[in-house]
Amino acid sequence: MARVPIAEGVFTWPSDEPRLIGSRCAACGIVTFPTQDSCPRCASTEMAEHLLSRRGRLWAWTTQEFPPPSPPYSGPTGTAFVPYGVGYVDLAGELRVEARLTETKGLRTGKEMELELTPFRTTEDGDEVVTFAFRPVGGAGSAV
Ligand SMILES: [Zn+2]
Repeated sequence: MARVPIAEGVFTWPSDEPRLIGSRCAACGIVTFPTQDSCPRCASTEMAEHLLSRRGRLWAWTTQEFPPPSPPYSGPTGTAFVPYGVGYVDLAGELRVEARLTETKGLRTGKEMELELTPFRTTEDGDEVVTFAFRPVGGAGSAV
């Protein structure tokens, strides 16, 4: 059994301190996630890889209470499905990134969040597929 990333080029792998892989426009400075070959603001093609901050502030969120349509969703369904948080985390000076959240309760606007890798599903071969998620720094319900 091995741990494998949900996709190549989304986050640094392997890594004890994972970072999301975005891109930054050399012409106007805008940051994108995921990476893009041309700038969505100025159309420049001078996009360079940019590793995003690991920490940000929770901007908005909700809870996914049922399995999303498949495809593209490939995670657990039926009784194996566990509701999860989904939100936007504001990475100061970079962008707001949409991501899975490790918690569904105890969240609030402005809460400090940190990126981590979390199990997503297990393949037929027994490999553990991991994806990225943001966890509240200090845990859910903390004052951080
Ligand atoms: Zn640009």
